[in-house]
Amino acid sequence: MVNQNLKLIFLGPPGSGKGTQGNRIAKELKLDFISMGDILRKEIKERSKLGKEVSNYVESGKLVPDKLILELIEKQVDRAKSSDYKGFILDGFPRTLEQANGLKNITEIDKVIYLKCNIETIVKRLSARRTCPKCARVYNLVTNLPRKDELCDDCGVKLEHRVDDCESVIRKRMEIYETSTSPLLGFYASQLNVIDADLGIEAVYRKAKEAIV
Ligand SMILES: [Zn+2]
Repeated sequence: MVNQNLKLIFLGPPGSGKGTQGNRIAKELKLDFISMGDILRKEIKERSKLGKEVSNYVESGKLVPDKLILELIEKQVDRAKSSDYKGFILDGFPRTLEQANGLKNITEIDKVIYLKCNIETIVKRLSARRTCPKCARVYNLVTNLPRKDELCDDCGVKLEHRVDDCESVIRKRMEIYETSTSPLLGFYASQLNVIDADLGIEAVYRKAKEAIV
């Protein structure tokens, strides 16, 4: 088992399943799960000054500037380090070489798990994604259906199709993601573990865990 602090990054385009996988592994290994998407959505929902700034970028399918992102991440990593934790998983961060360089000043990183997958698979998967507006639980109308209609199993609230889950926005995000993220694979070459995300949830989970522990 794990006897040291694990500082991990999960990389992969939106829809690669890295959030689901990262979350599950974090729970199992008692790591802090730091999801950039969750942090940003929380800021947007609270309509903070930062949140309003962030939502302008997100809704047009653009990336939020590095300076903003790094501020948010440093806060989370500091909190994780000061609590009774066994490490953390960063999800959805870093996305650019600039962010990776900024992160280097905040913390070291032990391993990077990259979930590699096909663009068409992602477009199909993400277009079918629905989110609970109340608890943020994520469903998928193809692979992970709610028990009843389009209602959240936990809250009974009608699920939403997020603006950034629409096909044109997804394709735009994928393009931006690939252009800005591919240099990261070189940056983290010595810590990098590439996993084929099209293998299916259980196989990806097993491979990711093997790579980590
Ligand atoms: Zn819910």
